[in-house]
Amino acid sequence: MNYRIKGFIETSFSDWPGKVVAVLFLPSCNFRCLYCHNHELVFLPEKYPDIPLGEIIKSLQKHRGWIDGVCLTGGEPTVHPWLLSLIQDLKSAEGLTPAGVSLGIKLDTNGARPRVLKSLIDGRLLDYVAMDLKGPLQADRYAAIAGVPLEEEGLAQIQSSIQLLLDGKVDYEFRTTLVPTLIEEEEVYALARRIRGARRYTLQNFNPRGAMDEGLKKVAPFDEKTMRRMQEKVNEIIKN
Ligand code: SF4
Repeated sequence: MNYRIKGFIETSFSDWPGKVVAVLFLPSCNFRCLYCHNHELVFLPEKYPDIPLGEIIKSLQKHRGWIDGVCLTGGEPTVHPWLLSLIQDLKSAEGLTPAGVSLGIKLDTNGARPRVLKSLIDGRLLDYVAMDLKGPLQADRYAAIAGVPLEEEGLAQIQSSIQLLLDGKVDYEFRTTLVPTLIEEEEVYALARRIRGARRYTLQNFNPRGAMDEGLKKVAPFDEKTMRRMQEKVNEIIKN
C-alpha cells in the first residue's frame, strides 16, 4: 500500500521521553493552527514525494538495537484511513528490534478523532500518545486557535480524547504550544486543572519564524524563565 509518508528522520532523541525513535511525517490535517510549523505538509503535501515504506524499513533495519520505536507525526496522522495498516506493517516488519523486543509506536495527535484513537489503543497498537491541547476548552476559543470551526460537537471530540488518555490504557502526555497572544497564563493553569492526575503536561514555546499566520511572526515568545515557571506550576497542578 502507498502510505503517503512525506518525511523521515532516522533518529530523534527529543520526540519520545527517554527513547530514541525514528520519525515519520504524514501529510494533511483537519486543523489549521495559526502557529503551525508544518503548514506545507498540511496545505501542500503534493510538494513532497512519497517515501516508500520499504525504504524506511531498510533504513530502520540498519539501526536495529539502537531505535526504540517510531513516532508518527504530521500533519494529523489520524485523518488517514490507512494509519492502522501502517502501524501494523511497522510492528510486524522483521529485523527492526532485537529478538523479543517489540517496536514502540508513538502517535502525535490533535485529539479531534477519538474513535480512531480508541481503536488504536484498544488494538494495543500504540505505546505512547502525545495529544495537543490547543487552548481553553470552549468551542469558540479552541476554534480560534485551531483555525477551523469547531462548535460544541468538535469540542466534545477533544474532551473524549482527553478522557481516553486519562483512563491510562496507554502511556501519554498532553502538550500545549504557548503563543502569548493566543492563550493567557491563567488559561494554561485551567487546562492543567482539567487534566489533573495526568502523567505529563508539557508546555512548548512557539517559534514565530515558522508560524503559518503572518501576524504571529511578529509576536515575541515567552522568555525561558516564564516558560520554566509555568511548567513548574502545571506540574504541581496535575499531580495534586
Ligand atoms: S494540528 Fe495544528 S499544528 Fe498540528 S499539524 Fe495540524 S494544523 Fe499543524
